Amino acid sequence: MNVIDYLRQHIRTVPDWPSPGVQFRDITPLLQNPRVFRVLIDQFVHRYMAPDLRPDVVAGIDARGFILGAVIAYELNIGFVPIRKKGKLPFATVSEEYELEYGSATVEIHTDAVGPGDTVLLIDDLIATGGTMMAGKRLLEKLGASVVEGAAIVDLPELGGSQMLRESGLPLFTLVDFA
Ligand code: IMP
Repeated sequence: MNVIDYLRQHIRTVPDWPSPGVQFRDITPLLQNPRVFRVLIDQFVHRYMAPDLRPDVVAGIDARGFILGAVIAYELNIGFVPIRKKGKLPFATVSEEYELEYGSATVEIHTDAVGPGDTVLLIDDLIATGGTMMAGKRLLEKLGASVVEGAAIVDLPELGGSQMLRESGLPLFTLVDFA
């Protein structure tokens, strides 16, 4: 079996969560099994070890992006910075608001998390509409950094987020698609 199918087998689909009609793609089984977790993390580490893609810092998006991003940063021997939901970070922040299906959300980053000229790998577990990752990219750019690539385990291409992100000029790396 190829690596992608192996990873796909360890993503659980939970119907009607968090609301009726939603098929939630749950990545926790990937983390729970040490062999699968290692295979998963190695996909990212090997890619971002390459000199042309190696970032200065990894930015992880609240909350599953923290789990992935911290381990990848550790393996690459570079720093990790969190992008958090509004009101969670203690120091000075910049924020970005973005639209959800119903209403809006805000993400924040510490003002000293990255600086001009820094290259950043932006990571989350999943791309749906792409709104969260786009807001993360804008936050990093507000501080003068540039995003080398956005990365996620799962892409839901039918929601159009990954296409929107690529068209906006953000290269993307995702492992498993779900239609
Ligand atoms: P987007 O902003 O619409 O692309 O939604 C992506 C964000 O919502 C990410 O932070 C994901 O963690 C979360 N998300 C949306 N749908 C799912 C899902 O099916 N499984 C896991 N996370 C999801």
